[in-house]
Amino acid sequence: MVMSMSADQQICHICNLVCPEGVRLVEGYICSECLDEISGTDVGDPKYAFYIAKLKELWKAG
Ligand SMILES: [Zn+2]
Repeated sequence: MVMSMSADQQICHICNLVCPEGVRLVEGYICSECLDEISGTDVGDPKYAFYIAKLKELWKAG
């Protein structure tokens, strides 16, 4: 696994790991693993609220 990247490091806002695959939002980045977690989490699960709160942080531009 090659971890050397250019200046634009893709560090997931939720798990804080460097993941080459994911989605870049306005204020940050979310890896595909966390996106999978979110889509697999039930809306009634407390984790879901946590994820949504994190996502909102990223959508808050400016
Ligand atoms: Zn992640």
